[in-house]
Amino acid sequence: MLQINRFYRSLFSLLAVLIYLLSTQLTLAQGRRIAIVRDAEIESLLKDYATPIFKVAGLQSKGIEIVLVNDNNFNAFVSGRRVFINTGAIVQASTPNEIIGVIAHEAGHLAGNHQERLRAQLDASRTLAIVGMLLGAGALVAGSTSNSNGATSAGGAIIASAPTIATRSVLNYKRGEEINADTAALKYLNKTKQSANGMLKTFDRFAQQLALAGVRPNPYKLSHPLPRERINLLEKGAKQSKYFNKKDPKALQARHNMARAKIAAFAGGLPAIQRLFKSSPNSVPALYGRAIALDNSGRSNEALKILNQLIKKQPKNAYLYELRGEVQLKLRQADQAVKSFATAVKLDRSKSGLIKARLGFAYVATGNRANAKKAVSALRAGLQTNPNNFNAYRTLSNAYALAGDVGEAELAMAEGHFRAGNSRDAKVFAGRAVQKLIPGKPSWQRAKDILTVGN
Ligand SMILES: [Zn+2]
Repeated sequence: MLQINRFYRSLFSLLAVLIYLLSTQLTLAQGRRIAIVRDAEIESLLKDYATPIFKVAGLQSKGIEIVLVNDNNFNAFVSGRRVFINTGAIVQASTPNEIIGVIAHEAGHLAGNHQERLRAQLDASRTLAIVGMLLGAGALVAGSTSNSNGATSAGGAIIASAPTIATRSVLNYKRGEEINADTAALKYLNKTKQSANGMLKTFDRFAQQLALAGVRPNPYKLSHPLPRERINLLEKGAKQSKYFNKKDPKALQARHNMARAKIAAFAGGLPAIQRLFKSSPNSVPALYGRAIALDNSGRSNEALKILNQLIKKQPKNAYLYELRGEVQLKLRQADQAVKSFATAVKLDRSKSGLIKARLGFAYVATGNRANAKKAVSALRAGLQTNPNNFNAYRTLSNAYALAGDVGEAELAMAEGHFRAGNSRDAKVFAGRAVQKLIPGKPSWQRAKDILTVGN
């Protein structure tokens, strides 16, 4: 009897392993592309979450980049020098501390060089292409102009550089490395005087979900195995800290709420905003989310009214002006949009190139030749901080066309395609640029370089 029991038990666990492997294989077989979203507000927030942690982890000088992934699942992982965080993680986290805890854990992996050991496994695994796009109206507006100059963009989504990320590297974390990453995370959170409660809450939630039979494994659970012993260790360490009950600063929580509202509005429209802010339907983030959802569903006039009210309440919030600029562009109020984006650029403490590029776009949208130079300089400034923004190159091309400089317009397209790794189109535009630019000038030389380099 005992033996039969044991037989069934081992059969059962074998089945469980098979189901686990099958679901992993399915995820791999989909050959999923990772959609990267760019947004000045959320990028600045994540940077503020991560900077103190990276500093105490000794990662500050290593140029670690935080990348936002357009995915509703709660997930975060490291690959190369990048920490990827899903938009879904931000929406599901009710406090900044929960995301900061996850970043601390990922920083633990990075600082422990856990990746290096996994790199050997990369060859056999599938690669994922990265699709970059702008979160927000900007992408749609930029996409709608693509027909006029033959850019290979669909709906504003563009192929950015395509670094190869191997899914298996993400999935094959070792249990020991998880505990090491947790231990490191606890240390970083203590050193930055923050609570580990958020991290504990996140991992505990996943561990409980894992215990339920039949639940489709969340990618985060696959990439970060969660045995009970690990949670117990984490809980013990977290509660030992004198910062365990410490709350996030109010200003940071307020920014987090705005980011959640923005993502929820883009992903789920008005119903998602109503769900998320059931208890506070007239709060600033609820109205912000409402404005975004309204604008996305073609009700831009209503969105504009709400934004004007919010700007009265928060006249120093750069992102309210940025969003108002997008709404005004949709309403074909380009001159007003220029003013909104210019204010946003002035107020944006993170100096994001994305907003500068949108200012350039608004100048071009006025169709006024007198604005062409201002457009070029705003776009150049934007590209200096965000050199891989393909949309900005396309707008730069339009700005030169508005100024009547066809050679520079062709070169801007060539440069954009070149940086996006699209060398065939880059050469087509560079070839046209060479014919129209003055031989010997730096821009002519650049066009020549694009023609000869980068196959
Ligand atoms: Zn992990």
